[in-house]
Amino acid sequence: MNRDDTITAPATPHGEGGIAIIRVSGSQAENLMKLFFRPSSKYSEIYSHYFYHGLFLNEESEPLDEVMAVLMRKPRSYTREDVLEIHCHGGYLSMQRILETFLKGGARLAEPGEFTLRAFLNGRIDLTEAEGVIDIISARSDRAARNAFRHLRGDLFKLLGNIRSQLVDLLVLLEAYIDFPEEEVAIPHFHDFSHGALSAEKAINELLGSFNVGKILKDGLVVLLLGKPNVGKSSLLNRLLGEERAIVTEIPGTTRDTIEEYLSLGGFPIKLIDTAGVRDSDDPIEVEGVERAKGKITSADVVLLLVDGSQGLTPEDYTALEFSHGTRRILVINKQDLGAVALPGDLLQLPHVNVSARTGQGFEKLQDLIIEQVAPAQGPDIGESVILSSLRQKEALGQSLESLGRFKAGLKERLPLECLATDLRDAIQSLGEVTGETLSEEVLGRIFSRFCIGK
Ligand code: GDP
Repeated sequence: MNRDDTITAPATPHGEGGIAIIRVSGSQAENLMKLFFRPSSKYSEIYSHYFYHGLFLNEESEPLDEVMAVLMRKPRSYTREDVLEIHCHGGYLSMQRILETFLKGGARLAEPGEFTLRAFLNGRIDLTEAEGVIDIISARSDRAARNAFRHLRGDLFKLLGNIRSQLVDLLVLLEAYIDFPEEEVAIPHFHDFSHGALSAEKAINELLGSFNVGKILKDGLVVLLLGKPNVGKSSLLNRLLGEERAIVTEIPGTTRDTIEEYLSLGGFPIKLIDTAGVRDSDDPIEVEGVERAKGKITSADVVLLLVDGSQGLTPEDYTALEFSHGTRRILVINKQDLGAVALPGDLLQLPHVNVSARTGQGFEKLQDLIIEQVAPAQGPDIGESVILSSLRQKEALGQSLESLGRFKAGLKERLPLECLATDLRDAIQSLGEVTGETLSEEVLGRIFSRFCIGK
């Protein structure tokens, strides 16, 4: 992909709205502005970061729309290149025509994420911040957005920077000793090395430990509704969502396929899956639905097992119990408004709650129970810590940890310093992969600045 050309793309979603924004980034941005934008007053020069009112013209100099234009000269822009934004009327056609005009003027349609990629390549943000940008856009709850914003703000980058800088310090010592044995370098204290590695390991492990919550923030806690037909799964889903989404009917087995919906509970995104009722059936569509439900159970974080509390348990309830064995479950005893029969004691060993999807009774407790499944260890107060939410980052950190493990083992075995340095370098390299930095020049730079070699 060429990185020197000028790219353009709509910055706002397609569809009708008050305004739409088309963004251009690259060396031709100012030129394109001069070609196609006619300000309503004459200006001797265009100032950076100022809004100008005027007309947008096509390549035949015919006006397309009345717009506002802002040019952000490099490096004070999102991509650190010259960036032009055209704010036009928010209809599909106006946006499309302006975009086409830019393309005819020599710009290229940007690839997905290419503006942010350029921001990274031009050193304005690191990879964790770039991923924060993506996450904040797709966040489905308060906490997810806040965590993405912390990444965007560079909190993870700083944290990793601290760990990395500890390790680079160790490597600098090792390398100096390897490269310049004739220099008077203090013989490395093995204790310092293992202490440094341990402290980095601890910090990485803490980050890795936050991944479970991070994953939920990103993908949602997967909550599956399970129970025999007519027990009230759709009604429960609707009440949790606060709207009529799944069709509620009196005929058993109407929710034939699975329905997935997102909601936000306690700031966490929850992915609710309503399944076909569990029962034996000859109807092939329904059988298929039940099979899909079974498949979904394994990928669920929590199963809400619904039973009709106004009636005794039937064999179908036991089938549902059996299906969900081995998953975290909350027993939801529904239809309390119709009265309650006593349930077997062993069933009540499960975390359970009495509700009525009709009246809303018990829903607060149900919501609390669901939220507890997200962060049982951390409690509700995971507020300000940096949480890892990207699998890519997790894997790179895992590799760093492995290298650190080898480094520590090598220390114990008193392996040659070259081998130790390789493991340490790998550990740093993997950390660098998380943030997208490269290593060698930095280490070299630090060796030179410390030891004044070449004087
Ligand atoms: P599903 O097949 O498990 O999805 O069950 P539905 O949500 O479609 O509900 C089946 C029937 O039970 C509908 O007529 C609902 O109105 C009724 N129902 C669901 N929950 C309750 C409840 O808590 N109380 C009462 N009285 N009726 C309920």
